Amino acid sequence: MKHKALYGTHDILPDESFKWQSFEDKLKSIFVLYNYKEIRTPIFEETELFTRSIGQETDIVQKEMYTFFDQGKRSITLRPEGTAGVVRAYLEHNLGEKSPLVKLFYFGSMFRQERPQKGRLRQFNQFGIEAIGSADPSLDAEIIGMAARICQEVGITEFKLHLNSIGCPVCRPVHRDKLLEFMRGKVGDVCDDCKTRFMRNPLRMFDCKKKECADLLKDAPVMIDFLCEECRTHYRQVKNYLSGLEVNYFEDPRLVRGLDYYTRTAFEIKSSLLGSQDTLCGGGRYDLLVEELGGTPTPAIGFAAGMERFILVLQMQKDLMIEEKKIKLFIATLGDEAKVFASKLCKDLRQKNIACDTDYLQRSLKAQMKEANRQNAEKVLIIGEEEMKKGKAVLRDMQTGEQKEIGLGEVEQILD
Ligand code: ATP
Ligand code: MG
Repeated sequence: MKHKALYGTHDILPDESFKWQSFEDKLKSIFVLYNYKEIRTPIFEETELFTRSIGQETDIVQKEMYTFFDQGKRSITLRPEGTAGVVRAYLEHNLGEKSPLVKLFYFGSMFRQERPQKGRLRQFNQFGIEAIGSADPSLDAEIIGMAARICQEVGITEFKLHLNSIGCPVCRPVHRDKLLEFMRGKVGDVCDDCKTRFMRNPLRMFDCKKKECADLLKDAPVMIDFLCEECRTHYRQVKNYLSGLEVNYFEDPRLVRGLDYYTRTAFEIKSSLLGSQDTLCGGGRYDLLVEELGGTPTPAIGFAAGMERFILVLQMQKDLMIEEKKIKLFIATLGDEAKVFASKLCKDLRQKNIACDTDYLQRSLKAQMKEANRQNAEKVLIIGEEEMKKGKAVLRDMQTGEQKEIGLGEVEQILD
């Protein structure tokens, strides 16, 4: 084998891609119900867009970005997440002027140079939504409710919604001081990453997956106890709305997010079926990001979800919801005349939106029947040399095995 896909990337082959299509179709229909419209942004952007929005001290910016210089010596980065590009586009095209609340969804590949393992790739796919322009807690609840509904609708039977508030620039420094105080004397015992986090953004130590760090932080002061009046009210209202929408949630005071731009509401949906990479979906408010990227202060909220992880869970649940689409008809032929007829019949059937296929390898009838089976065809039309002369063909139902002779002119009506 001369060439192989790069470490941490994967091909989605035809016997998998139908699952992706069905998943994407389902998602799109849900987004439409909530009145979100699609946005497609470039796969690469100026590096500075990501360093400014995601935050210099995050794992993504410090270790995970695919950054390179192009021919013009500009620093370019393959997008590691979707929000930065969406907000850039929102500002560049003044979407906020056209509508005070802009509700967007996206699908796309993201790129992070991390150690590949189950549920963690270097090129992976996310879907996400962003609602830009409102600070209203009912919007937080709508979005969290939508994320939960997506899990249900696509058939995830086991998941848990974690909810927290990570405050704002008014209350965060108060908690930060307390946390630093708590950690004093203990910093020597945390991992190297957490030593850096301690210096630069101590709240992010809660995001560390290492046991020794988690143990050390067990009794650490949590943000939720230090929320300012406004953040506390907002959080309470989000929970009220969620209860009104009958969305089950679990308050998790240790939940923080890996990106700096989050404020107030933070949430994640986890599935126990996934093992250590258990987060299907993560999101929250980012009320400061639009301003950080040069716009007027504009509150916003969104989430991003890993499509590979959803597919993984669905596979572990034996793909309950996903069925491959079949072709309606396979036309098996013997002889040149039948082949010419089949070629025209395929065209006519497709014009009528009937999915069909025929043989292009001049195989034996037996081999063609095998092919029809492999293609999962509902029916097979067998046109032999003799039948062709008589203007007849045999139609076989692949499910029941039933066969009947029909006139060649009748095929379209029978299948319609
Ligand atoms: P994790 O803690 O699992 O590293 P994260 O906080 O880095 O996740 P986000 O940036 O919030 O993840 O991305 C949202 C979702 O995208 C994750 O919940 C996950 O489902 C998916 N995701 C993130 N990184 C990867 C990856 N390297 N491979 C596959 N999916 C990923
Ligand atoms: Mg990560």
